[in-house]
Order: sequence, then C-alpha cells, then structure tokens
Amino acid sequence: MTLTFGHTREHRAINILLCEDNPGDVRLIREVFNETAARLELSVVMDGEEALDYFRCLDGHGKTEMPELIILDLNMPKKDGREVLREIKKNRKLKRIPVIVLTASEAEWDIDTCYELGANCVLTKPINLDQFADMLNTIEKFWLDMVKLPKMESF
Ligand SMILES: [Mg+2]
Repeated sequence: MTLTFGHTREHRAINILLCEDNPGDVRLIREVFNETAARLELSVVMDGEEALDYFRCLDGHGKTEMPELIILDLNMPKKDGREVLREIKKNRKLKRIPVIVLTASEAEWDIDTCYELGANCVLTKPINLDQFADMLNTIEKFWLDMVKLPKMESF
C-alpha cells in the first residue's frame, strides 16, 4: 500500500490566508509549506485591519482568493487576532473556513477566548525556531494533507 500524502489535491492549489505581522514567521511558513511547489496559494496580510479589508474585498467580489484555511496570529497591530476571528465567525460564508490560531500566549484565558470565538485549533508558537518549524510541518501534514477542507466558492 502506498501512502499518498500531498497528492490527494494535486490538481488544485489550496488557498491559505496567513494573518501574521512578523516577517520572519511569514518567511518560515512560506519555506516549510514550500509555496513554490504550486500546491498552495498563500496570501499574507500583516495586521488585523488588512485582514478585514481582505474579507471586505471578497465580499465586494474583489480579486482576492477565497481562502479554504486561515492561519491567524493572535497578536497583530491595529486590530488583533481576536477581533479578526470574531468577524470571520459571525460571517455567514466565512465562518466555515477553519481557523488555526497561533499565539505566543500560554494564558488559559487567551486560549479559552479563542475557542469561545470559534477557533478550530489554538497553538502556542514555540520560541525555538526548530520547534516552530516542526510545528509547521505538523500543521502542513494534518491540515493540508489529511483534513478535508471546505469547498469555498466566492461570494
Ligand atoms: Mg504577532
């Protein structure tokens, strides 16, 4: 029997929206997810307001891609991840998109709030770069190769 990780969706790229204000983290995520392999389309917004603009653009039949998965950093300037998450989960169409929350916080209050707001999973970012890369590899294997993502059509 052959395992076909990574080949189940080979004909169509997965659209991912990454909301992350740290350029180093964005770079690492691009590297680990191997964006150049054409199996995914990664759109990046670097603060909460930009994220909300992105969704407004979808709503207004803009050119932005409808994401099938959102990776959301909790601590971002202008509007933080909690506010972005609240907007996503109260929107009729967007609410079905799985949201992976990345946080530097270990605080139970923060983690519970994310689930309360509808996060699909909450992960604490390791400070160590190798451990962060390991976590991203696991996210890739699970969320991109194993999970059945929703089929998102435009608004
Ligand atoms: Mg941040």
